[in-house]
Formats: sequence, C-alpha cells, structure tokens
Amino acid sequence: MDRKQFLSRSLKVSLGALVAGPALASAASCNTPAGNDGERDDPSAAPTGSALQLMQIPLPYAYGALEPSIDAQTMEIHYTKHHAAYVKNVNEAIVAEGVQAQDEADLLARIGTFSAKVRNNAGGTWNHNFFWQVMGPGGKGMPEGKVLDALTAGFGSFEKFKELFTEAAMKRFGSGWAWLVERNGALAIGSTPNQDCPLMDVSELKGKPLLALDVWEHAYYLKYQNKRNEYVVNWWQVVNWDEVAKRMV
Ligand code: MN
Repeated sequence: MDRKQFLSRSLKVSLGALVAGPALASAASCNTPAGNDGERDDPSAAPTGSALQLMQIPLPYAYGALEPSIDAQTMEIHYTKHHAAYVKNVNEAIVAEGVQAQDEADLLARIGTFSAKVRNNAGGTWNHNFFWQVMGPGGKGMPEGKVLDALTAGFGSFEKFKELFTEAAMKRFGSGWAWLVERNGALAIGSTPNQDCPLMDVSELKGKPLLALDVWEHAYYLKYQNKRNEYVVNWWQVVNWDEVAKRMV
C-alpha cells in the first residue's frame, strides 16, 4: 500500500463516521502533508507512511455561533489551545513511542497497550472532534423523528433521557465526559473520566458514541465558573440532533 492509499484509508476510517462531506475534504486536504504527490519522485524522501497521524477537524461553525450557551472565548480557547494540544501531543507520542496502529479506530480499540500520554491525547483528539460535530447553532432543544422515537423507546421519554444524561454529566467527579452510546442495538447513558472514550478497550462504558458532553472545567468555567449545572441546562440548546440521527443506525 503506498502512502497515498494509506492516508486515504486512515482518513476514511478515522473520520468517516465523524465528518460530513465538505469537512472531510477540508480536513483531508489541510492535514495531508505538502509534497505528498511529489514524494514518489523523490527517492530520498523518508518513508513516513507508517506513522499514524490524527487530526483536528475544522470547527464546523464560528467561535461565537453557540452563544449564549457557549461563549466565543471559551470556544476559541477550547478549540485552538486545548484540542489543538491533544492533537499535537498524540502525534508526537505516536512517533516518539513508535506506536503502530492501522488507523484511529484501531488505536483506540487497543489504547490499553500504549502509554498514558497516548491514551489521554488520543482520547482528547477523538472526543473533541466528535463533540464539535454534535453541536451547532439553531438547535431546537429536542430531537424529532427517529431520534425522539429511539430515546422514548430506550428511556421512557425524552425528558427522562435528559434527566439521566444530565445526572451522568453532573455526577462525573472531576474531569470527563457524559455519553449516549449504542451498544448491541440498545441505547445507554454513562460517563468516562479524563479523556477516555467509549471506543477504548479500557473504558468501563463501551459502545458507539451518539452524543457527548465535555464536562471538563475548561469547557465552561469562563462563563459558568463552578455552575456546571447551568452549563448542562443551556447546552441542550446547541445539540445538533441531525448529527445524532446520522450516527444512529
Ligand atoms: Mn475539552
């Protein structure tokens, strides 16, 4: 498999479930190292195709687009500092530690075999790429159609689902994430510590993520300080249910 095929395959696998068409094209082009096409003409080029590289998707909206639920300054720092650092750090660790993985999904599925640095930063990379996409401006506060039907079937009512998800977000002690996942055809709510993700072999909560909420203080402290509950209440207004629907089989 040459480098181009490799990149194309790893991009497809790592982002296929995450990114809509234009964002994928954009993520792919901005993360493909310049000179990729010329590599074959340069026999001295290093064989870099073996190192997996994770990437940060372009934010699908402006920093201020989720106001007033999430303020522009928090969003900008979160995306350009916190998330960017996870991406940089995981890629450095992959190279420094000689991590071999076929793609991002493979890396997460075997994360327990790698260092804490790889685990934390791979999780931070994936989780935020996911989080940005399941939010958006113009949210209606609640889903409709198949998502509403599935949540009602799974939890009794949308209000009950909201209550349980909020509880998971509030009870996560310290830093972590609240999740809605699909597992063996059923929906489940839970939370993970730090940057763990339900796709990781080491995660207590396992499944295919459908919705996530970042409850690290960096996600809300500038605007909400210690009031995580207010952040969670307002966050429902920026959930992008269309993106949740896309991930539901
Ligand atoms: Mn975060």
